[in-house]
Amino acid sequence: MGFARLVTIARVALDIALRKEFDYRVPPEWIPLTSVGSRVRVPFGRREVLGYVTALAGRTEVGVLKDIIKVIGDHALVTPPVLRLARWIGDYYCCAMEMALKSILPDAVRREDSAWRERLVARPLANKSAELGLTKRQSNVLKNLRAQGQVRMTQAREILQTTVEMLRRLEEKGLIEIRSEIDERDPYAQETILPTTSLVLNDEQRAALVRIEAALDLPAGSRGASGAGERTFLLHGVTGSGKTEVYLQAIDRTLRLGKGAIVLVPEISLTPQTVERFKARFCQGPLQTMVAVLHSHLSAGERHDEWHKIRQGRARIVIGARSAVFAPVDPLGLIIVDEEHEFSYKQEETPRYHARDVAVVRGQMESAVVVLGSATPSMESYHNAREGKYGLLEMTRRADDKKMPLIRVVDMRLTIRSEKGPPIFSPPLKEAIQQRLERKEQVMLFLNRRGYATSMQCLKCGYVAGCEFCSVSMTYHRRDGILLCHICGSSKSAPKVCPQAACGDPSIRFSGLGTEKVEEVLASLFPMAKVSRMDSDTLKKKHDYRRILGDFKTGKIDILLGTQMIAKGLHFPNVTLVGIVNADQSLHIPDFRAGERTFQLLTQVSGRAGRGDVEGEVFVQSFTPFHGAIQYARRHDFEGFYDEELGLRAQLRYPPAARVALVTFRGANEEKVRFTAETVKREFEKVLEQFPSAILAGPAPAPLLKAEGKFRYQMMIRLKSMGKLSAALGVMQQRLRLPEGVAMTIDVDPVNLS
Ligand code: ADP
Ligand code: ZN
Repeated sequence: MGFARLVTIARVALDIALRKEFDYRVPPEWIPLTSVGSRVRVPFGRREVLGYVTALAGRTEVGVLKDIIKVIGDHALVTPPVLRLARWIGDYYCCAMEMALKSILPDAVRREDSAWRERLVARPLANKSAELGLTKRQSNVLKNLRAQGQVRMTQAREILQTTVEMLRRLEEKGLIEIRSEIDERDPYAQETILPTTSLVLNDEQRAALVRIEAALDLPAGSRGASGAGERTFLLHGVTGSGKTEVYLQAIDRTLRLGKGAIVLVPEISLTPQTVERFKARFCQGPLQTMVAVLHSHLSAGERHDEWHKIRQGRARIVIGARSAVFAPVDPLGLIIVDEEHEFSYKQEETPRYHARDVAVVRGQMESAVVVLGSATPSMESYHNAREGKYGLLEMTRRADDKKMPLIRVVDMRLTIRSEKGPPIFSPPLKEAIQQRLERKEQVMLFLNRRGYATSMQCLKCGYVAGCEFCSVSMTYHRRDGILLCHICGSSKSAPKVCPQAACGDPSIRFSGLGTEKVEEVLASLFPMAKVSRMDSDTLKKKHDYRRILGDFKTGKIDILLGTQMIAKGLHFPNVTLVGIVNADQSLHIPDFRAGERTFQLLTQVSGRAGRGDVEGEVFVQSFTPFHGAIQYARRHDFEGFYDEELGLRAQLRYPPAARVALVTFRGANEEKVRFTAETVKREFEKVLEQFPSAILAGPAPAPLLKAEGKFRYQMMIRLKSMGKLSAALGVMQQRLRLPEGVAMTIDVDPVNLS
């Protein structure tokens, strides 16, 4: 017959980051298994490499093509919408699409050899005639197996009091079958979960849910009555206003519509408590579905299984940290980003994406509803809501009508005058703690700095113990007797005398406060109180976190002292006092978001007080008590803070009034790094010619000049809107030839400026 031979061509993005895709011929035997998103093995030069199919076509411009060697898996790992998302990330965050794809699929899924874990199980078969010749022991085993239904081979001894050999013999006789089946790893297998049902919502919750539900009910592609915003919402609800209940009921609606949901939470609040609230609601009833959990503490095998549960549609709710925004939920109805202001949503390595922003973009691409929730929204999100880009949902009261805690700001300058020695606890805070101990109520104290002292100095010669690799002083950790760098993690044993050869004086002073020191002071001030410290030094083992929180819940601990770890999401009704030991700490970092961070931190920490029947009280100790961030937090006045802060940002052309891209050069040789930065600046200026609103500042030494042995110089670009700038920078970066020993990164919408 005269038909031309039909050739299928696949365009493939290779794992080796080349900003280019290549065409391959799909051999006929692989055609049924090949689709956009398929994982494939292909020849490349003299090597074989893995990649993804990004498009299929009937012909190509390239003449002779090589064949795809193999298609991995029965169905595409990446769905077309996720592939589109990867392209957007590549363009917007200035990286090759292959790098974006790397983040999108967990390693455990990408690897060619990753698979389900299988196990062998024995099951009885009905076979009367073969039973006649059995020994007494054999028929006993058979009887026991029948009673059990099925037994894992590895449990033959434990459950059937028999051996694997014995079971094999029964199999030969045709009395039982031994089969391999998938053994799903369930990271939460130990939990017992009590099902919950929907609560009756209060007016504010109901009003919020109604608007979310209306958006969920919109047909795909169409927009809401009030414009593009109606599918993306900012849920601004004070701590304890019952945001989680709104999330749960929105998910309920999503499932009823036959779609799935992704819930993003910051890694730090991805506690078993949080996961349980979601599992408990959907583990029973007509909407019953598995809840998959994705976070960094899973083993590779667990991650593989969780991911495939989602891909196969068996788990329709996913809860996870940053990268869960890429979960292959299909169809996707809803994405929730809880604590949307959290900085941990930003990935600090390539691709430097912000999961909240990716969520919004993914929502638009897949006509899914996105709900960003927070008691302290980021300036960016609140700005978008004010501008009408997002629908704004406000919940101003605590769900159970508990009052917001009373916040007292303590002027530490007065304490310094009245007390001897370095001030740690002001008299009013000391008194308040004493009072709670007497009333058998609980106290939480917060200091975002671990260790004993933040610097060690020789009083005679002035020597300060600094890190060899980073431009910071080393923190003294007394229990371990070491000086530790909190940037790079290097340590050395703490000297007893000044280590300067010419000095050697024993008069060493430790200054700057850490949690270890506060713990010691508490023990001497309140010898009868049970104090527990919670920071990354005391949480060495996997279960320490749960154990300490459990002890606090049951009242075995009176005072819980900790770093930001205890700032979020925890709910302890008997906590009536929260103390913030040093509120100034986050105010004086060289970052335009210092005020915002402080406001958020104070508000979140205060939210831990007064969750029960007794009204809560918060003490904020500060040397700059009249700072806006502190005063607005004291008055629970988010809008006041936002308006004042927006004014400052607009003046300085910082987000949300403008957009920022931060360019960092790193290298071991400072002079070379500085010179490279200055030379490369011209390339940036050329690109920026097409962007008249852009301002280029620098290069200048980064606030943290040296980290992990590398010197860092920065340039900052500020402009009205990012538009096509990042894609243009990406192309320029690809062409750029940097001298050996200097690396450059471009961070679009950076959150960390140090
Ligand atoms: P948020 O996430 O806004 O900080 P939570 O969702 O943790 O607040 O809710 C705070 C407390 O209020 C929880 O104990 C929750 O069970 C309770 N709660 C939430 N909604 C309601 C409601 N409609 N009726 C009664 N209690 C509620
Ligand atoms: Zn260091």
